[in-house]
Amino acid sequence: MRDTLVLNASFEPLSTVTLNRAVVLVLQDKAVVEQSHPALRVRAAAFELPVPRVIRLCRYVRVPFRRQAPWSRRGVLVRDRHRCAYCGGRATTVDHVVPRAQGGGDTWLNTVASCAQDNHRKADRTPEQAGMPLLRQPFVPSPAEAMLLGMRAGERAELPEWLVRPAAAA
Ligand SMILES: [Zn+2]
Repeated sequence: MRDTLVLNASFEPLSTVTLNRAVVLVLQDKAVVEQSHPALRVRAAAFELPVPRVIRLCRYVRVPFRRQAPWSRRGVLVRDRHRCAYCGGRATTVDHVVPRAQGGGDTWLNTVASCAQDNHRKADRTPEQAGMPLLRQPFVPSPAEAMLLGMRAGERAELPEWLVRPAAAA
């Protein structure tokens, strides 16, 4: 099932919903379609509609508080675009900057994407101890960024250019 990205009236990404839910929101005039799939259409007895990829709520929804995005290994890899923080090569593992053996935790600021070789080479040492400086500093994604990071890569790549995107690229 393909998910649809929901934007607030302010264009800020809010969540993803199922296609069915997205269609209902649009048919009830609670949301407008901002981008639809060029080829796919939803058909029912009374209507036909392009499959929405992105919809935007017509009324602004106040988000009561900004919780921090939950940490995950997959999230770290996606945040860092699968680039090793030490050599810039393809990363398949997550390295703890301050090793767990030295008290480092599973947090956004203490973890980076790493290739298996560098992860093994660094072992239970800090970047300073290992003489392996970070090519870039890890950062905490905003909830909106984390939500985009949680989408499948193929779906993320199809999102409109103007959307706020995680800034890890560089
Ligand atoms: Zn590496």
